[in-house]
Amino acid sequence: MKNQKGYVIHTASTRYQPKPDEILITTAPNDVYKNENKESVLPVFTANGFQNGFSEYTTELPKNYHISTNQPCYGLQFLKANVPGPTFLQYPSTKVLLETLSTGRFKVVGISSYTWTLPWALEFSKFVKENFGIVECWLGSYAVMTEEPLMKERFDRLFWEYSESTLREAVGLESLSVKELCHPDLTTRSNWLNTRRLIGHTIFQRGCSNRCIYCADPVFTPGGEPCISMNSLNRIFDHYQDKGMGSVYISNQDTRPFSHNGKLVINEIYKRGMRFGMMTSFMALTAKGKEGIVELVDKGLTFLLVALESLNDLTLDNTNRKTNRKLMEDTLQLLSDLKVTVTSTYIICFEEDTPDSIIESQKAILDLGVSFCLFNIYMPLPGTPVYRKFRERNFITDWDWTHWTGNHLVWKHPCISPDEARDLLKTLRRRTNHPEYNEFNRQEWESRSSCPVYEY
Ligand code: SF4
Repeated sequence: MKNQKGYVIHTASTRYQPKPDEILITTAPNDVYKNENKESVLPVFTANGFQNGFSEYTTELPKNYHISTNQPCYGLQFLKANVPGPTFLQYPSTKVLLETLSTGRFKVVGISSYTWTLPWALEFSKFVKENFGIVECWLGSYAVMTEEPLMKERFDRLFWEYSESTLREAVGLESLSVKELCHPDLTTRSNWLNTRRLIGHTIFQRGCSNRCIYCADPVFTPGGEPCISMNSLNRIFDHYQDKGMGSVYISNQDTRPFSHNGKLVINEIYKRGMRFGMMTSFMALTAKGKEGIVELVDKGLTFLLVALESLNDLTLDNTNRKTNRKLMEDTLQLLSDLKVTVTSTYIICFEEDTPDSIIESQKAILDLGVSFCLFNIYMPLPGTPVYRKFRERNFITDWDWTHWTGNHLVWKHPCISPDEARDLLKTLRRRTNHPEYNEFNRQEWESRSSCPVYEY
């Protein structure tokens, strides 16, 4: 069987061979940057060690309209389920992280970091080498793609792509094929429009084979990975069913529900009497036309996270989105008729955007049947085609990685300033996701107010 593709760049010559239990793998702490300027801090990590997928999108809303998910760090949980030996910490507090290091058991600290948490990771690696006798610091996840000059100085190994196999090899274990991976428990606590429940998250295929020019996934794992085995997926679906969960959420970057494996997965969920939601693209969703979507609803589809990104066909074309406004509008109308709840993503400040066009789009989104829209600012993520283009044109103006979150304009837009972009973002988030402005959002709140609220 073909092994997983990931690879490691060794930047130092120590080549320390750690025993598995000498390795501590951690994410950034949940209180990362807590003493910094509030505008640049994302409230996404929760004090109890999860990630809230909605926090940054609700900060402009009154508290009673906040929705949230408490989801585990997928990458860390996959590592933990497939690499025995190391200690894993998921969004610990700084206090817990330091206490763990104080035990003196560790010689290697591996950090899983986003681009925006890289400045913390750079400082932390220096700190633990100076204060805790750490011999090597390793870095994995999206932050490895940055051209940060300090990277090679502070980290001894850079782990590219999904790293279960390369981490296993680092501790002297056999590598794995994707088919041999164990799917971790990704139970998520969802607090969605008056309904609180546990939802079983799954990813049956990681990465994405599309090539949207601004997306980090095709850079991090070109072409994506093959599918995880049905045996592994069935084990986790059984587990979710045993825990009494009524829904599974498929969190592939671009779920293809009509692919061979997509059909198998949906059938397995259906067989267990559970409903499902998924993250997908319009292209994948409409691959079998209207009949295909109706079939998915018959099989239990109730919730979609689907990327609009722009309503401008020129932008969709320029960014390689492989869809168009008419197709998106028609599909959303059908989903509304079929009573599927839709959340979408939308990007503002593409090169073609103006403040007026952005406000016009926001008004149009209100008519599309989207209950909640996750707005972000266009960002030239390191390694992507748009990053290379902006670098060449000297467009990048803000190299503070803590701003590379989709909440700041970090490049020189032809007609929008960073402050204007922030104001537009706030206005859009407030006006689209509040029941007073969005009738679909209001209907969701009202229809669910009589639903049982499950405690967890
Ligand atoms: S479809 Fe989504 S995940 Fe795939 S390349 Fe485009 S933006 Fe990235």
